[in-house]
Amino acid sequence: MTDTVTGTLPASEQCTITVGGMTCAACSSRVQRALETTPGVSTANVNLMTGAATVRFDPGAVSLDVLIARVRDTGYDASLPDPGATPETTLDAQDAERAAEDRSLRRKFAVSLALALLTTIVGLFPGGMSGEATGSAALLRWLQLALALPVVLWAGRHFYVRAWLAFRHHGADMNTLIAVGTGAALLFSIAMTVGGGWFASHGIAPQVYYEVVTWLIAFILLGNWLEARARTRTAGAIRALAGLRPATARVLRDGNEVDVPLAELRVGDVALVRPGEKIPADGTVLDGSSHVDESMLTGEPLPVPKAPGDAVTGATLNRAGAFRFRVDRVGRDTVLSRIIGLVQQAQASRPPIQRLADRISGVFVPVVMALAVATFVVWYDLGPEPRLVQALVSAVTVLVIACPCAMGLAVPTAVMVSTGRGAELGILIRGGEALERAEGIDTVVFDKTGTLTAGHPALATVHGGGRVLALAAAVERRSEHPIAETIVAAARERGMQLPDVAGFAVHPGKGVTATLDGRHIAVGNRALMDAERIPVGTLSAEADAQAARARTVVYVAADGALQGLLAVEDPIKRESGDAVRALQALDVQVVVLTGDSRATAEHVGRAVGADRVVAEVLPEGKLAEIRRLQAEGRVVAMVGDGLNDAPALAAADVGIAMGTGTDVAMETGAVTLMRGDPRTVVGAIALSRRTMRIIRQNLFWALIYNALGIPVAAGVLYPLLGLRLSPVLAGAAMALSSVSVVSNSLRLRSFHVA
Ligand code: ADP
Ligand code: MG
Repeated sequence: MTDTVTGTLPASEQCTITVGGMTCAACSSRVQRALETTPGVSTANVNLMTGAATVRFDPGAVSLDVLIARVRDTGYDASLPDPGATPETTLDAQDAERAAEDRSLRRKFAVSLALALLTTIVGLFPGGMSGEATGSAALLRWLQLALALPVVLWAGRHFYVRAWLAFRHHGADMNTLIAVGTGAALLFSIAMTVGGGWFASHGIAPQVYYEVVTWLIAFILLGNWLEARARTRTAGAIRALAGLRPATARVLRDGNEVDVPLAELRVGDVALVRPGEKIPADGTVLDGSSHVDESMLTGEPLPVPKAPGDAVTGATLNRAGAFRFRVDRVGRDTVLSRIIGLVQQAQASRPPIQRLADRISGVFVPVVMALAVATFVVWYDLGPEPRLVQALVSAVTVLVIACPCAMGLAVPTAVMVSTGRGAELGILIRGGEALERAEGIDTVVFDKTGTLTAGHPALATVHGGGRVLALAAAVERRSEHPIAETIVAAARERGMQLPDVAGFAVHPGKGVTATLDGRHIAVGNRALMDAERIPVGTLSAEADAQAARARTVVYVAADGALQGLLAVEDPIKRESGDAVRALQALDVQVVVLTGDSRATAEHVGRAVGADRVVAEVLPEGKLAEIRRLQAEGRVVAMVGDGLNDAPALAAADVGIAMGTGTDVAMETGAVTLMRGDPRTVVGAIALSRRTMRIIRQNLFWALIYNALGIPVAAGVLYPLLGLRLSPVLAGAAMALSSVSVVSNSLRLRSFHVA
């Protein structure tokens, strides 16, 4: 978790602090401010949903202990995660914490509810709630006080403690509203209880509001409890991912098959997988064969055939066959762990739109306090008798209905559910910012090879005989280009021995050269031949014929003389046409970008229905093309394989790294697609659009709710319609609004790739 930057930059380290007890946006922004204003801290990112603060700081200027102390000072819990923690163990810790929170809120709610009922019943006795200062009425008031005290001092204690801590730091949050609201009603009632006789002798009938206090706290606890439960559900996707891994692995130890716990699995172990079992870790098949269901990681529904030499991924499900494999990666290096880590980071990240919600929440509490005071003053001056009581009740109602909880949940719940759902579908979105940028994509550039085409070309023809293939393969053996792999595989299939070459050189976008037996060999496209000043005229008819069939021509030359050519054919993926059409239906322009020849590229472009084809570009040219589109004001997504397209992916507004199965550079793009299906590109864009729509709905409803609720609570409808809101009802409405925002976000769980 620690990375150090050296050089001219000030040294900086990053740490993640677990923060406990945050319940609303105002809470997290208070912790955020506390961290940001600490000298030595460059950035802080506090997330309400995950209860974590990611802090980048200068270790020379500030220590971890100081950071922890700063958070604790704000009234929240802070601790450092265990350094040996893997994404899963952090997840377990978070789960345990959530479960404990859930239990505690439920208990507190149940007790408050029971006491609120009792307080109300006692209040219903004749003369209890209002009226005379008779002995029995006074006794009932004392009884109500006794019932209300545990609710305030135990169940609702944390509201007051946090409000006080916020106050000490010149802050105010939703706890302030709750504490001031219920506190005012409570103190008023206590005064009436203790000094009932005195008030009565001065002509004021003693009136108490214990049931308002107890019901309010009960409702707010109910809201918090439902919210905590819903939040747990928003994390369901990632827990499901973590739950995919089997508990044990069957390995060969000293020639015996033994079951070992996953933690004891080592790289190099030989593991056995029987039909219907989950694969325990990432590795390479040694013998046997089977079909493996990888849908849990890639979203790919069809089982993938596996034979010796193929890679298998931990947590995927073996179907009918049995096989043995060598374990290559365990623990946090596995694909599953990396996915979980990425999703956790994504879920904890804040999209730029969150700043809007933060700004609103920031001014909200002080504004509401002012409105409550104004409400009190107006009711006290102009309202009906008993004025003090009416003014107090109205002010309390304003404070309660204005709690900005729904506002705080609007963005993070949606980000959480959406990134989690994405992961289930094999769409890894790197975070809130990527999500928000992906919404605006209006141009998708496909790096042709491996995205729209299979990326595993087949050798179609050899012109010039086996000698040409052998020459080409000997040089290509050193290259990692898909064309190279094809040529080498074809030569090996034909039983050719590939001699070693010297002076191997890659010419990006053109081909490769090397020296073999003292001869200078060049293998590549027309551009390479031109660069090497090798005339290709003798084979131009053959080359044109191959190009017309959408094949890629690879020339082979030795010592400046053309020896022959190979043609490879990269089949277009079945889903490519559908994907392009679906993108166009979303008003997205589709561009095919490739280093391949114009004829081949145009063939592919036509076949899939792309809007534009840009061919024969060198790798730098791809970057320039992206920049050119951006200069036109377009929001560009670049889809590549993430391995050799990294610069173009980074330059695009949204880089989309597409893999087949598990050979993806997951950390490269803003979005990683685990599956080689181009339709998932459409899915990623659609998911981001849908998420942003949900976020805006959430913000709108949270705002509208307060915008309408506050005036009604203040009593603007009273002079006209005689309508008022009771504080208890306001408490119930507040709980409901948070729950409805969370439920709206949970709708994203049903998202499907069309
Ligand atoms: P793309 O990924 O768009 O296909 P590349 O830059 O990888 O573009 O390759 C562009 C072209 O350069 C290929 O179509 C091929 O003609 C040629 N080329 C690149 N590398 C090799 C290689 N190792 N062997 C033969 N040709 C190559
Ligand atoms: Mg390429």
